[in-house]
Amino acid sequence: MSGWRDLLCGDPSPAHVGRTPTVAGWVARRRDHGGLIFIDLRDHTGVIQLVVNPERSPEAAKTAHEIRSEFVVRAKGEVVRRAPEAVNKNLPTGEVEIQVDELEIVARSEPLPFQLDDEGVEEPLRLKYRYLDLRRERMQRNLRLSATVIAAIRRSMEKQGFIDVWTPTMTLGTPEGARDFLVPVRLQPGRFFALAQSPQLFKQLFMVGGLDRYYQIATCWRDEDLRADRQFEFRQLDLELAFPSREEVLDVLERVVVVSFEALGETPPPRPFPRMAYAEAMLRYGSDKPDTRFGLEIQDATEVTRGSDFGVFANAEAVRFIAAPTALSRTELQKLEDFAKDWGAKGLAYLVVGESGEVRSPIARFLSEQELKAFSAPPGSTVLFVAATPALVERVLGALRLHLGEELGLVDDSRNELLWVLDFPLFLRDEDTGQWTFVHHPFTGPIEGHEDLIDTDPGAALSQHYDLIWNGWELGSGSIRIHRQEIQERVFRAMGLTEEEARAKFGWFLDALQMGAPPHGGFALGIERFLALLAGESNIREVIAFPKTASGSDPLTGAPAPTTEERLDELGISLKAPKGANP
Ligand code: ASP
Repeated sequence: MSGWRDLLCGDPSPAHVGRTPTVAGWVARRRDHGGLIFIDLRDHTGVIQLVVNPERSPEAAKTAHEIRSEFVVRAKGEVVRRAPEAVNKNLPTGEVEIQVDELEIVARSEPLPFQLDDEGVEEPLRLKYRYLDLRRERMQRNLRLSATVIAAIRRSMEKQGFIDVWTPTMTLGTPEGARDFLVPVRLQPGRFFALAQSPQLFKQLFMVGGLDRYYQIATCWRDEDLRADRQFEFRQLDLELAFPSREEVLDVLERVVVVSFEALGETPPPRPFPRMAYAEAMLRYGSDKPDTRFGLEIQDATEVTRGSDFGVFANAEAVRFIAAPTALSRTELQKLEDFAKDWGAKGLAYLVVGESGEVRSPIARFLSEQELKAFSAPPGSTVLFVAATPALVERVLGALRLHLGEELGLVDDSRNELLWVLDFPLFLRDEDTGQWTFVHHPFTGPIEGHEDLIDTDPGAALSQHYDLIWNGWELGSGSIRIHRQEIQERVFRAMGLTEEEARAKFGWFLDALQMGAPPHGGFALGIERFLALLAGESNIREVIAFPKTASGSDPLTGAPAPTTEERLDELGISLKAPKGANP
């Protein structure tokens, strides 16, 4: 035999008939029939059928009898046309087969803990045996697609004049809104590095350092609860430009998105992507990452209910509603009310408009003609109201809208809706402390003319922050930054940091802003979220080779794991829980 393989399993076509290649791969199936042994051999390119005929090769037949599923085998033989009745139209290689002359078992396999073609395998089992899961078509497709897209992104970034520069991952905490993962330092017991939540401040320093156009596919670490679109460690396309306009930054990203679609042979979304102000997104969708693939938009009824006889409406800061295109039953309404309560609402008022236009509602008798007219919905619909503070109304109706969109099948999965959300507020009140806090991170610049509001009316200041949204997922965020030390100090002050505290935490960075910092801005695009959406997956774990489970562990290696007393002593750490105890 020559090398390990002359042909990949997916290669052989009738054009190869008459050739005598070597193929190697995994055994998907073995069947014995009519004195012959049929072996479906698989690799990542596809499946080819091997036929072992004891008359043609008695040696190979002896070996073939030992072969089980998932054995690795190598075979040499002749590519022949299948008999017409044996042609398999479902396989690209279904018109041919290989008549085997030589057969070798390269590696044996125990019976697997799950069948590779079983779609219903539970995730913990898939992750414990991820290397088997990776053999499956879905993971092969997702990881190969990921590599194609990342290569296209890199090409695009380089074509656009960006250079790839590495930044430290063991660093000082970067305020991105999550907890830091800490790394104890043996040489300096009691001191910790933080794993970078992002390269944010370093990329800004690149701009001060004259590097102009930086990018990196950076790994970031954030200690937060895991969800479908969140892992402790993830990658982002991190970039920064000196002297950009906001439009220039958005343009860089739109190009990246377009080349990614093109690399996969798909039609990219038309450019420029639509833009929506944060305030509008919150009002119409109750979310700063609206899923615009369906309507069910939130409508405002605050004005019309000001003098309402229904006290709940009259006394609420905001009254808003959505009109679902179906007359909901009492049980359904009860469930929705529970849902709304889970999101913090006190209740969920409703008007059901029956098929013949009759209105069913406990509150209808309190409502004026004018109110009823304002809420009018076509026959066969239900108007659902939330009355509370604007923030609560947005939260509840935003969640309800998404829930109903799914429940009622209103989401058109074939649509790709990319959208920029702009003009975020610079600060929001922290619900726990009542303190002004940054919306994204404290290095975001205010929009021109709002600099003074930072001191006088922080809640009214708008920022130069922007988010890229795809079908309701936040793909990434960025901003034009603060490049003047005096403005940066004002922002820290508004957040309640004293000058000493600001200097203690960020003095090193504030100094840099005083030494010729050019205007700059950038962005970070969540690579795994982007890949998952491109792959049509609803969980980023499907595009990560070795992800953590929702509870933050790795069933494959068993990490995280306790450490030894020696290691803890070296690091100067003593545990509150018994040493070595598992949580
Ligand atoms: N550092 C930000 C993040 O990780 C992105 C940016 O503002 O460029 O989300």
